[in-house]
Amino acid sequence: MAKTNAKPYSNLIGGNWKAPNGSTLENHNPADYSEIVGLFPIASLEDTKNAIDAAHSALPAWSRTPAPTRGAILDKASQIITSRIDEIATALTREEGKTLAEAKGEVTRARDIFKYYAGEGWRYSGQVLPSSVNDELLYTRRESLGVVSIITPWNFPIAIPAWKIAPALIYGNTVVFKPAEDAPHTALLLVEALVEAGLPAGVINFLTGDGALIGTEMASNSNVNGISFTGSHSTGTKVYQNAIKNMARVQLEMGGKNGLVILKDANLDLAVKFAIAGGFGLSGQACTATSRVIVEEEIADAFVSALTIATKNLVVGNGLESGVQMGPLVNHDQLETSQSYMTLGQKEGAKLLIGGEVDGQKGYFAQATIFDHVEPTMRIAQEEIFGPVISVIRANGLNDAIEKANAISFGLSAGVVTNNLKDAFAFANQVDAGVVKINEPTTGLALNAPFGGFKGSSANTFKEQGQAAMDFYTRTKTIYVNHG
Ligand code: ADP
Repeated sequence: MAKTNAKPYSNLIGGNWKAPNGSTLENHNPADYSEIVGLFPIASLEDTKNAIDAAHSALPAWSRTPAPTRGAILDKASQIITSRIDEIATALTREEGKTLAEAKGEVTRARDIFKYYAGEGWRYSGQVLPSSVNDELLYTRRESLGVVSIITPWNFPIAIPAWKIAPALIYGNTVVFKPAEDAPHTALLLVEALVEAGLPAGVINFLTGDGALIGTEMASNSNVNGISFTGSHSTGTKVYQNAIKNMARVQLEMGGKNGLVILKDANLDLAVKFAIAGGFGLSGQACTATSRVIVEEEIADAFVSALTIATKNLVVGNGLESGVQMGPLVNHDQLETSQSYMTLGQKEGAKLLIGGEVDGQKGYFAQATIFDHVEPTMRIAQEEIFGPVISVIRANGLNDAIEKANAISFGLSAGVVTNNLKDAFAFANQVDAGVVKINEPTTGLALNAPFGGFKGSSANTFKEQGQAAMDFYTRTKTIYVNHG
């Protein structure tokens, strides 16, 4: 699509759609970067302040709206998403690159998240506590936190916004939402569904453009009460530093270096399946991706050869084409990062078994890559790559495997493949990660369970998803009523 034909999209500020004014953010198809899939506004600082003001003005009425009424709007949005799954999934693949099957799964997840939180509108509550004196009612109320800034990455451009926006809204908060520069279209389709569902003006505001400019204001503006962020560790750190000036509440999710441990009694077919799903699903661009496989020496050769064969068979290509199992990386930076780690792994002395190259001629394609004999201290075993690169680390026994799994600065997700119940629970109890998977890939989350990492993977403040989200998006008031 030529640039002149590319469609311009708008921002949403205080209920008004604001078309691009001057230069725009070009949104490209990563499977064919000559195709511009949309042009998005570059919001100014004034736009950002106006969006925060609009959310602030909309707060009193929205926070006083009965929660089941708020839930009815979320339920309607869920129905609208359901009726547009194919359209939204296609838009998602065109701007982010993952396969259509992966995109459909993600849109379906967003639909379910809205449905789940719509129900929460009928359920959530405070507590009634025993009083220490006669004739006193002692209870707590969950109130909305206030105006929340939601800053999201490109890798799950509808699921992550959904799991932040749906709880924000059901608990009575108003929202300023900024998606990543590389995937604004899917985010816009979500906002459109909410507007169509009847969300009042100003309750959600949508901004696109320069992440640092908009994001700095969204984190530091004194009318913002909370910031929920998912992205890189370095940006998350800036968000925290800006938020602390106003003592705003912060929730940060910042990546991982997730290890899948394979013990010697494991079913090898399953182990290979989980490593492929976790390592190469979404082209390795998931916070919970399996970037390290820690395997007991006794079965390492057999495992590595089966993994290499399965990897050889992976079909890489444009995610919109049927049969493709791994799409491109999202942008040129990601391609260069993957390439640099593929080169680094060889320099560090790891054994390259398959892959090791990228092809950026038309789209941002990277080969599924496996390194064997990786030492835990190597940079490829320590740093988040966010590409299709698996480092195989060999271990001697369960304790050595757990030690190696923990020898990183991150602590998001970890997995173990074994048929030994005792070892599985020892791993679950001793591994330093916020999510543990036993005989499952390190990727994949339940929408109703708490999600969040330990160590450098998060701010170690509040969990996301399920009812855990209520702790971040509400404040607790304690009320003493003497009726004697
Ligand atoms: P990635 O490296 O995956 O692109 P980032 O952490 O840079 O991750 O981006 C995550 C989100 O943070 C995006 O929406 C991006 O626009 C936004 N962002 C970028 N810089 C800042 C900043 N200084 N403050 C707040 N948000 C930012």
